[in-house]
Amino acid sequence: MSEVRQVVGCVGCHAGRSLKVACIFFERIETLTLCTCTSPALQLLQRGLFPCAPLLPSLAVDLNMLEFVNGLFVNAAPNTTAWCETLESFLGNRRYKLSTRNSLHRCFGAAMQWYATLIDKKNHQLANYLDQFRLPATHCSGMMMLFLFGGGDLFTLNLFV
Ligand SMILES: [Zn+2]
Repeated sequence: MSEVRQVVGCVGCHAGRSLKVACIFFERIETLTLCTCTSPALQLLQRGLFPCAPLLPSLAVDLNMLEFVNGLFVNAAPNTTAWCETLESFLGNRRYKLSTRNSLHRCFGAAMQWYATLIDKKNHQLANYLDQFRLPATHCSGMMMLFLFGGGDLFTLNLFV
């Protein structure tokens, strides 16, 4: 994972401007300086981070944390406020404070919402793709009934299953 985060992008040129992004990890906050000549969102994703906004994000969240929180909110009542206040307190005790003008809650909530939306979209498209190759349930069970009760042989089963 650390090798991915060390992907070197442009840090400043005439085609873009400098953009500072606060990157939230489980145990620390890092500040990255990106150049806007290349999509900041794509640069962040290359480093395993998910931006809070598509164009000029001020904050990005570790994908591992988003996956963890997404799973937590499946098993427990979703509460972004409680998560963010706990995280801010935990990081604050380790002397990590956000210097951005946007609150952690607002930016984290946006990153979480778009991350969850993309994961749902991916799962939906994957399910649709796999459905193309599945036999209809009635066809499949009908052939099994024919084999089991109609005296079908192994050759018949292989043809239809
Ligand atoms: Zn640049």
